[in-house]
Amino acid sequence: MNKSISDTRGDFKVGCHLSFAGGYAKMVRDALSIGANAMQYFSRNPRGGKSKPFDAEDAGKLLETAEKHRFAPFMVHAPYTYNPCSANEDLRRFARDAMSEDLQLQAKIGRSFYNFHPGSHVGQGIEKGVELITEFLDAVLPYAGDTVVLLETMSGKGSEVGSSFGEIAKIIRAVKNPEKLGVCLDTCHVYSAGYDIINDLDGVLKEFDAVIGLSRLKAVHLNDSAEPFASKKDRHAKIGGGFIGLDAVARIVNHSKLRGLPFYLETPNELEGYAGEIKLLRSIRKGD
Ligand code: FE
Ligand code: FE
Ligand code: ZN
Repeated sequence: MNKSISDTRGDFKVGCHLSFAGGYAKMVRDALSIGANAMQYFSRNPRGGKSKPFDAEDAGKLLETAEKHRFAPFMVHAPYTYNPCSANEDLRRFARDAMSEDLQLQAKIGRSFYNFHPGSHVGQGIEKGVELITEFLDAVLPYAGDTVVLLETMSGKGSEVGSSFGEIAKIIRAVKNPEKLGVCLDTCHVYSAGYDIINDLDGVLKEFDAVIGLSRLKAVHLNDSAEPFASKKDRHAKIGGGFIGLDAVARIVNHSKLRGLPFYLETPNELEGYAGEIKLLRSIRKGD
């Protein structure tokens, strides 16, 4: 482990998406080796295969290390194959059963966020989409334990639900257990959805507060965008390597309304690239 990196850690929680292939202890070692104190991983194979059997000893090592190094809550990401608002009942049931299982497993570990994509309404319309996502959440949230389930802000590609703050607010208002829900703001997605976080970050956060409420905002997916503003396309770029740019990223990680949140990178990188980005972000962060 690079000691000089870990020694500079203040309250800035930053990390990235990691592979769960080697288990929990390996994953948190990887996080430490790149100077991270936050980490995200898929709850199971991203294409939605069977989850691994729970290894309590391995999970214990994860918790011990995460506590010792004051990690942000673990960010568990649902596989992309879950579509809570599919027109096909079998696909909706698959998503519901798999996410219920994921949540039960995560409740055993604790100190976690569980992030999911609200889904694509596939031509049924936003209203129907919101209705199906609400039904879905009413079925799965009782399994969440103390995990906070996060709706991710989406780019709006195809028929994605959740590319406007209004759609997310509607879902949160409609569910039976809103206290279990939060929001994860993906910088690439909101930018390509048409929220101008480069020129009007204050205005975007004001709108978020008015429509959803900033107390719901629990985490940031920090990504640059390989697609232009309001393109409704979802293609992540390395930090400073896309249309958002490093100056805007610096304002984001230092903004008074965001700086207390954990930041999770989902940029096209291997471990070494992530280490470089985390180091860069720590260097542009002010005041801690
Ligand atoms: Fe995502
Ligand atoms: Fe994301
Ligand atoms: Zn994305």
